[in-house]
Amino acid sequence: MKKHNFSAGPAILAPEVIEQAAQAALNLNGSGLSILEISHRSPEFVAVMEEIQPLVLELLGLSSDEYAPLFLTGGASTQFLSTAMNLLDEGEKAAYVDTGAWSKKAIKEAKLFGKVDVIASSADKNYNYIPKDIKVPSDAKYLHFTTNNTIFGTQYKSLPNTDKFLVADMSSDIFSMERDFSKFGIIYAGAQKNLGPAGVTLVVVKKDLLGHVSRVIPTMLNYETHVAKESSFNTPPVFPIYCCLLALRWLKAKGGVKGIEAHNNKKADLMYGEIDRNPLFEGTAEKEDRSLMNATFLLKDESLTKEFLADCTAQGISGIKGHRSVGGFRASIYNAMPIESVQTLVDVMQAFEKKHA
Ligand code: PMP
Repeated sequence: MKKHNFSAGPAILAPEVIEQAAQAALNLNGSGLSILEISHRSPEFVAVMEEIQPLVLELLGLSSDEYAPLFLTGGASTQFLSTAMNLLDEGEKAAYVDTGAWSKKAIKEAKLFGKVDVIASSADKNYNYIPKDIKVPSDAKYLHFTTNNTIFGTQYKSLPNTDKFLVADMSSDIFSMERDFSKFGIIYAGAQKNLGPAGVTLVVVKKDLLGHVSRVIPTMLNYETHVAKESSFNTPPVFPIYCCLLALRWLKAKGGVKGIEAHNNKKADLMYGEIDRNPLFEGTAEKEDRSLMNATFLLKDESLTKEFLADCTAQGISGIKGHRSVGGFRASIYNAMPIESVQTLVDVMQAFEKKHA
């Protein structure tokens, strides 16, 4: 039976990406060697890096004169500290918006390095909306926010209004919608949702922002190290990076970020259309802030939850149980999710409605 994988992450990759990755694990480009056993200094892997770095910038509409894409380890969670450590001196201030569990973790780490002003929060409504009309203090160095809140299913549809540079955790919506990426000083994202497999974190840094703090930064946590060595100061995660290259080639063939955004909008319309139409279900996030990537919803009668999950499983649907802090269901519909899988979930919801009419 065809499986429909709605996992929040690690998440779905396009079938052709997985097939090509499997092929490269056996024999990379006919070399007779596996991608798993070649040196990160070999010509084959240097070619991978030489292709993926400009491709990241091209897809984001950024120039290599200003920005450097880095492929690091330690997850987005390490970037919670690295961003502040590299950008913020002890006496300096940064503004943060609290839109859920991941923002809170970023705030906690940043406090180790400078003054953190949490200028807005949606904690009052269990993070079901994005705070608007924020005021960034004039003495803040940057504004940090989470573009898409994977757990709560909310997403910034437009960028916060400020003349400060932006620092953002884009783990769950990178490359999914067009934004003015030139407003960002740092973009970071764990690969395992919209970019590739777990094991690599993409960090895009604006180079002229580096090197301005007075503290000593450990070599491996200093972005300047990785900019200078093009992510090969130490052994980078060779296989995850290769898979990201395959996924980005796939994305480019789909019309890049603009092309995939149109596809993502169609899927989200189909999904939320059914959540709003079906009398048994309700969405958890405010409509205007609903995520195009993670649709969170509940059964109005919670006692039906087990039965609905069993009906989903019977149709090959997996990974839609909601995060424990929200409950209900979460359909993660990242870039690689085909609309046919969303239709299958909608069909199950409609059959469930008929059964309980
Ligand atoms: N930020 C967001 C928005 C996330 O969804 C996640 C992972 N679910 C993280 C950060 C943490 O990423 P990692 O596990 O790569 O540290």
